[in-house]
Order: sequence, then C-alpha cells, then structure tokens
Amino acid sequence: RQNARESLYIILNFAKNHYQHQLYNTEEGQAVGLSYFQERGFSEGVRKKFELGYSLDNWDAFTREALEKGYSAEVLEKAGLLIHKEGSKTAGYDRFRGRVIFPIHNVAGKTIAFGARILKTDKSQPKYLNSPETEVYHKSDILYGIFQAKNAIRQQEHCYLVEGYTDVISLHQAGIENVVASSGTSLTVEQIRLIARFTPNITILYDGDIAGIKAALRGLDLVLEEGLNVNIVLFPDGDDPDSYVRKVGAEAFKNYIKVSAQDFITFKTQTLLQDAGNDPFRLAAVIGEVVNSIVKIPDAIKRQVFFHRTAEMMKVDEQMLISEGNKLLRKLH
Ligand code: ATP
Ligand code: MN
Ligand code: MN
Ligand code: MN
Repeated sequence: RQNARESLYIILNFAKNHYQHQLYNTEEGQAVGLSYFQERGFSEGVRKKFELGYSLDNWDAFTREALEKGYSAEVLEKAGLLIHKEGSKTAGYDRFRGRVIFPIHNVAGKTIAFGARILKTDKSQPKYLNSPETEVYHKSDILYGIFQAKNAIRQQEHCYLVEGYTDVISLHQAGIENVVASSGTSLTVEQIRLIARFTPNITILYDGDIAGIKAALRGLDLVLEEGLNVNIVLFPDGDDPDSYVRKVGAEAFKNYIKVSAQDFITFKTQTLLQDAGNDPFRLAAVIGEVVNSIVKIPDAIKRQVFFHRTAEMMKVDEQMLISEGNKLLRKLH
C-alpha cells in the first residue's frame, strides 16, 4: 500500500515536471500555454510557485514519454494520467491534452492531482478537467493552494476561501497569499478541518452569481459546527476574486472585502428574508432555518450574540428565538 502510494507520487511528480517543460520549452507550449498565462497576468513568480504547465495538443505525448522512461501503463492509469479503454490493444491516451495545467498539491507540497483548463471556452468540452479520485487524491479532503498558503494563513490568522484555481493564483499575484480554493464543490468537513489546523477565521469570497451564493449557503452550517468564525463577501454579479482584483488592484480589493464582509448568520438571514418577501409562512420558515444555523455554533456566548442580532433583523422576539434554539439544542445533545 505504502509502496503503491509512493509510486503514484513519483509518477505525478514526473508528470508535473513534464508539463512544466512543455510550457517553457516547446513552441506550442510557449505560443499557446505561456501566452495564455501571460494574458491572465500570471508572472513568472506565480507560475513557478504553483508549478503551472501545459499539455500538448496530442493524443499521447505524455504517455509515450513516460513509457519510454520506464513507467508502467498500469501506474499511469492509477495516477489518473492515462485513459485506457477496456479491450483496446493500444496503451491508451493522455487524459490531459491541449490544456494549461494546474498541479494540485497536498499540505506537504507533493503533487497529488491536476486541474486542466482549455484555452478557448466553447460548449463542446468542459472548461476544466480534473484528475479522477486516486489512491493519493481524494477531492473532498483537499483545498487547492493550501501548501502555498499555509504559512500566510498562520501568520495572518485568517484564511480566504475562493471557488477557483485562478482566483487563488491572481490573489497571490496581488500579494494576498492566505487563500485556498474549494474548486467549485461544496465544502466538506475534512476541508474545513484542514483550514482549522491553521486558523479559526475564514472569509468566503464566492462568485457573485446565484451558483456562488447557493454554494456559500450550503457549505456553511458545517463550518459553524467546527467552531470557526465565518464571514462572507460576494462579488458584483459577473465578477470573481480573480477578475475583480485585476480590475481594481490589491488595495481596493482589500478595502472592498473590509466594507462588504458580513458574518455568515447575518448574510444567511438577509438572503433568506429577501427571498421570503412578506409571506408569513415563508418568514416562519426563515426563522427556523436561521435558528437551525445558530444552534450549530458551539460557543454559547457567540450563540447569544447571534440570537440578539437576528431577532432584530427579523423583527421577532429574542426570547422566542432562544427558546426555539433551546428545543433544537436539546434534540442535538
Ligand atoms: P476561469 O477564470 O479560468 O474561467 P474560474 O475558476 O473562474 O475559471 P468557475 O467557472 O468560476 O471558473 O469555476 C470555479 C471552479 O470550479 C474552477 O476553478 C474549477 O476548479 C471548478 N470547475 C469549473 N468548471 C468545471 C468543470 N467543467 N469540471 C470540473 N471542475 C470545474
Ligand atoms: Mn462561478
Ligand atoms: Mn474566473
Ligand atoms: Mn470563477
């Protein structure tokens, strides 16, 4: 088992070096991949820090080289790099072709998987392709950028959580290094505990579209349960942290966060209240939802603060919220 994992780390590291080599040392890599990164404003510094690469637009450029170097087709397939069709006589073909490559690292900095983006988005292909789950890559356990961010997170006692690879890299480019990405999925307990190893303070920076808001609401009761302090910032519709920081610069970006950050409970209450309008049944449901989130907070003093605050926002009696909360708490314990 240990050996099987070790051989995956070795081939993944070889692949990472291969994709970097293709980016900098081939004509196609320079013309297509490097110029793509440059257009996105990624300097050599961040490209190297995140070990970005390029996969040639070719069926098996990587596989052929890896086989030549003595790696087995079996291990390539287990690493998620080679796609072998059942019954086919050939070794198979490269999973990543004609895409820019974002290596995904574990906390210790080992490459465990890849994300890969097509250069021109069209409807015929997914924008991002990711490695499948493997023996060393469990998507729900990892956050993109944790290795590059962990020292800054610890130092600043704060972690920004964004949706995408390019959000992480653009923020580093702007000098903001305490940032990790959930890679477009809803948060898991493992991911939250990973952040909690370094800080209890999280600010979620999600895309300002409906999907971003929904994703933010979904993951968050989990974060409360872990006792973390969660704030949330939404970007103007159509923007994400990457596009916004490039538009306004690092200082204005930080200022935007400062003035728009809301604690999660307040954010959730406002969002749900807006949806409910004046319908009393829906308002009652909102009260239930919000109380349900508040009771997830382990700290009694913090709970009290939120009961007080949300009672005001919802224009209901604070004691009523507290007694509803106590009923739920008794059920939880
Ligand atoms: P870009 O700025 O390059 O268009 P993005 O990061 O803003 O990328 P989003 O569409 O906001 O892209 O998606 C956020 C994240 O969700 C991506 O970085 C990626 O991790 C994941 N993702 C998006 N689309 C896909 C897909 N088709 N398959 C798998 N993961 C995806
Ligand atoms: Mn989005
Ligand atoms: Mn984007
Ligand atoms: Mn985005």
